[in-house]
Amino acid sequence: MSATVIDGKAFAAKVRGQVAEHVARLKEEHGITPGLAVVLVGEDPASQVYVRSKGKMTVEVGMKSVEHKLDADTSEADLLSLINELNEDATIHGILVQLPLPDHLNEDLVINSIDPAKDVDGFHISNVGLLGTGQKSMVPCTPLGCLMMLRDHHGSLSGLDAVVIGRSNIVGKPMAQLLLGDSCTVTIAHSRTKDLADVVRRADVVVAAVGRPEMAPGDWIKPGATVIDVGINRIDAPERGEGKTRLVGDCHYESCAEVAGAITPVPGGVGPMTIACLLANTLTACSRANGLAEPEGLTA
Ligand code: NAD
Repeated sequence: MSATVIDGKAFAAKVRGQVAEHVARLKEEHGITPGLAVVLVGEDPASQVYVRSKGKMTVEVGMKSVEHKLDADTSEADLLSLINELNEDATIHGILVQLPLPDHLNEDLVINSIDPAKDVDGFHISNVGLLGTGQKSMVPCTPLGCLMMLRDHHGSLSGLDAVVIGRSNIVGKPMAQLLLGDSCTVTIAHSRTKDLADVVRRADVVVAAVGRPEMAPGDWIKPGATVIDVGINRIDAPERGEGKTRLVGDCHYESCAEVAGAITPVPGGVGPMTIACLLANTLTACSRANGLAEPEGLTA
């Protein structure tokens, strides 16, 4: 194996440490405590786990954490009314509605009812437009985490050929916008892309966000390229015992690591950065709301 392993777990801990320092300063110098409200509708087990760890880490960096757990059959009107209350609440600087929502709720309507300045997931249509036009916005957490790791590894990304595999609104498209913002030449590949292997082979930077276990093998990777693997896929692992499973990314780690210059592992790569960036976004939102300087290095 020749690639440098980009340790997302350590990087995320560093980001959380920086956030905590800023929060302590905000409290001491301005008497302000950033607040994050997370809204969970229903009892999806995976969502419950995410919400719990978001709340725990919010408190750990010294922020106020508020959780609203609503029944699965909550009406759209009641959910919108709660979001409206949080929009008006001056102690809350970030609002996150955990997705997916139950089928009877219109996700776009709900997300677009959040005050864009408090939209720490960066999914509000205004933030999507601001990012697309290169203006100050709230940036989706997972692509922001990928960007931070890439900047840290490369310094400047200017002029690099980047291929993003996947065109989702939460990862692929915002990732492409961020790379474009850092002056990469960006290609977005997707399920209908012809000769995907050839497209990926041209990339200095590959960001894979597909959701297909170990789809990209090492012979798709240009020697020395940086591979950011966003995919989180659970596969059977009979070698670990009957009924056991393990997590893998969208890239075949062992073969990609042999040719890449740097690679993020799964788990322990992009995953931990997502919550760290949620906290960074909450801090950014709080700083902006109070007319204070934004935390350096923690925004796009
Ligand atoms: P999605 O299903 O919304 O989008 C997947 C994209 O992959 C689509 O745009 C599709 O065109 C593309 N695709 C599908 N098959 C393809 C193929 N054969 N070749 C090329 N492209 C193909 O998924 P998403 O929400 O963007 O998530 C992608 C992956 O990232 C998932 O594994 C998800 O679990 C993971 N994820 C991780 C984090 C994190 O915190 N690390 C956050 C979000 C998503």
